[in-house]
Parts: sequence; C-alpha cells; structure tokens
Amino acid sequence: MHVVVCGAGIAGLTLALQLHRQGTDVTVVEAAPGPRTEGWMLDFFGPGHAAAARMGLLPRLQELSRPVEELVWAGARGRPRARVPWARFAAALDGQLLSLLRPDLERALREQVAGRVTVRHGRRVVGFADGPGPLRVHLDDGTALEADLLVGADGLRSRVRAAAFGPVPLRLLGMHTAAFAVEDPALHAALGRRLWLTDTLDRMLGLYALEGARVAVFTVHRTPAPVPPADARAQLRAVFAGLGGLVPAVLARCPPPERIYCDVVAQVEPPRWSTGRIVLAGDACHAVSLVAGQGASLAVAGAAELARQLGTAPDLPTALAGYERTWRPVAAARQRAGRDGLEWFLPSRRTTLWARRAGLRLLAVPGAERLLLRGLLGGPDPPGGAPGHP
Ligand SMILES: Cc1cc2nc3c(=O)[nH]c(=O)nc-3n(C[C@H](O)[C@H](O)[C@H](O)COP(=O)(O)OP(=O)(O)OC[C@H]3O[C@@H](n4cnc5c(N)ncnc54)[C@H](O)[C@@H]3O)c2cc1C
Repeated sequence: MHVVVCGAGIAGLTLALQLHRQGTDVTVVEAAPGPRTEGWMLDFFGPGHAAAARMGLLPRLQELSRPVEELVWAGARGRPRARVPWARFAAALDGQLLSLLRPDLERALREQVAGRVTVRHGRRVVGFADGPGPLRVHLDDGTALEADLLVGADGLRSRVRAAAFGPVPLRLLGMHTAAFAVEDPALHAALGRRLWLTDTLDRMLGLYALEGARVAVFTVHRTPAPVPPADARAQLRAVFAGLGGLVPAVLARCPPPERIYCDVVAQVEPPRWSTGRIVLAGDACHAVSLVAGQGASLAVAGAAELARQLGTAPDLPTALAGYERTWRPVAAARQRAGRDGLEWFLPSRRTTLWARRAGLRLLAVPGAERLLLRGLLGGPDPPGGAPGHP
C-alpha cells in the first residue's frame, strides 16, 4: 500500500510515522520549502499527550519543552491582577502537560521519520483523480503521484478537503489571532520564565521568552471580519494601542506583516471525513481553534487513531469508517467545549473578566485547580484522555 500524505504538519508527520512503523510505504508532500522554525507556544495535554506517550515520543518532547514557572495576568495598565504557578496547571492534569513551541513538536516528529519516509518540500497537492485504476495525486509542478490512499493533513484551509467535498464554510468564532517573535533584551529579561498575558476585555496578548533575546508573542482579539487583514502589523497596533505594561515594547518591535502569522479563529465540520480513497486528518477535518487549546493534541491523537484503523481493519472502507466513527465524537466534543468556553477564554463583559480573575486567584490556592481548570481550558472531559477512545 502506498499512502500520499498532503501536509507535513503535526497530523501529517504523526500519521507518516505510525504508518511507516506498520510497514506502509508513505510519501509526504509539503508546501513549505523546509521545516518551519517560527511558531506559537502550545499547551500540549489530553489525548495527544497520551498518544505521544504510547508512541514513545515523550522523552524527546520533554527535552524540547520550555519551562514555565508562573503565569501572570496583567490589567490594561500592566499591573499584575493574578499569578498562578505553572505547577498548579500541571498538577491538575496529573503532570501530563508540556509547554512546547509548535516547531519543536514538529521537529520531534521529523526526527522520527527522517531517512524513513520521503518528505517532498516545496510542492503542493492541487487535486486528484480517483477513478478506476490507481488514485492519481496531482502536484503543482504538473507531475502526479500514484497512490492507494490520499490523506489531506493540510490544515484549516485544506485543499484536499475542497477537492473532495467542494467548499466547506469555516465556522468563524468572531476573533483573529496572530503569532510572531520580537527581539528585545529588556523585554526578555523582564519576562524571565513567566508566561505573561493581558487580562483585558475583547483582546489578549501573551508573551514568552525564547532563546537569546527573542520573545514569542501571540494575540487574539474579537472582530467580526471574516478574513485576516492585509496588514497584520497595522491591525495589531490599532487593536492593542493604549495597553500598558509590556505591550508598548511589543508593538514598537512588531515585525513587518509578512513575518506575522495572522488568521481568523475558526472551526471546521465537513459533512464527511472520507470519500473513496481520500481521507482527512487534523485541522483539515476537525479544527477546534486555539480557544479549545487542543488542536495539536487532537492532530496527534487523531492521526494515530487513523493509522491504527488502517493497520487493523480488514479493508480500506472499514478503516476509514471506523476512524470517523471513533474520532469524530471526540473532536466534536472539544469543538463544542471550545465554543462554550469562548467568553471565559476572552471575556467581552466586565462581569466575566472579574469572575475569571477571581477564579485565577483561587487557582493559586492548592486544591482548587481541578475544579477551575475545566472552565479556564474550556474542556468538560477528563484531561488524561478521550472518553471512549481505546
Ligand atoms: C496562535 C495559536 C495557538 C495555538 N495553541 C494551541 C495549544 O495551546 N494547544 C494545542 O494543542 N493546539 C494549539 N493550536 C492549534 C494547533 O496549532 C493546530 O491545531 C495544529 O497545528 C493542527 O495541525 P495540522 O497538522 O492538522 O495542521 P497544520 O499544522 O496547519 O499543518 C498543515 C500543513 O499542511 C501544509 N499544506 C497546506 N496545504 C498544502 C498543500 N496543498 N500541499 C501540500 N502541503 C500543504 C502546510 O504548509 C502545513 O505544513 C494553536 C493554534 C494557533 C494558531
């Protein structure tokens, strides 16, 4: 069996690794010219953490994880409003929580597939022909790959999904997000090992110190705009103007728009996850968005589940049906939890902001963490794994 995976992101690399371990021939096609070095900080917990443990990836992920000592929420003028030791969050998740840069998670997976799986960088999948005979996967250089299965692991705006099912509208959550890095020794020193977040209405900016004098920045703000702006830097400067603390230094050093990741915050719910010899994985079929805080986790666990089904089911249709039957309810529950937790994630009302602040202060008290974590992380399920998942 030859599987072509479109996208060397978190889901695509996980799937490639697991299929290779099962003896399947895999080719990964990735649009980016090489591994990405830029990205955002991930809280990695839940089903993906459990899957990574089963896959033997945890020791490497622990090495690559970034220690955080404390989370600090600062008000509009920059004064700290709440502080929570990172250990409180980790304790609430029985220690099954890693703080990782997205490129580091990708790196751990790449190290495992290196020399074992062909990854073709700088090439895009543009379509496929799934008629009689071998499935043909068309690339943007005019060539085609023959395959027995094409997996669209190509993210929120999946090209494979569009080719298989036609346009599937994104479920917009009324926010934009951005991520980038700035270089500032003073800002870096001020942060230390803290994750610094604004505790503000309708907009949030988070900071974490990286190597050297680099600082990772992520932002989210409410807006009805259905597409990201042409000039992300101008938008960020307008939205976050007037905030104090560490924000002015970030806005002053904000890189040009082409070096800022910026997109709508959205989920996606395609009518089906597979058709014929085409199947979707990761954000392409179950994007939960950053408000659910588990997109990468679900990408790992869902891809591992797809590989398991392909390795154990008697035939392809049974494997693809089993994958969707098992995994879709898990992803749908996380999507719902993310939507239900929107107001907690980014308060739009002063009463929520105050209630959240009180909750965060309580979180610093030993023993209160389990109760409060569900609201703050937006997840009603037990964090260790997905209910009903093998
Ligand atoms: C700011 C921010 C914070 C987040 N925080 C968290 C968090 O704390 N915890 C968490 O678990 N998740 C978090 N997430 C979500 C998480 O990053 C995503 O859910 C996850 O990266 C999805 O992985 P994926 O492999 O499905 O898709 P992606 O990571 O998007 O990978 C898709 C890949 O496909 C490639 N591609 C696209 N089209 C084509 C094509 N036509 N041909 C070839 N290649 C193609 C792309 O270049 C890319 O490499 C966050 C997301 C954002 C934006």
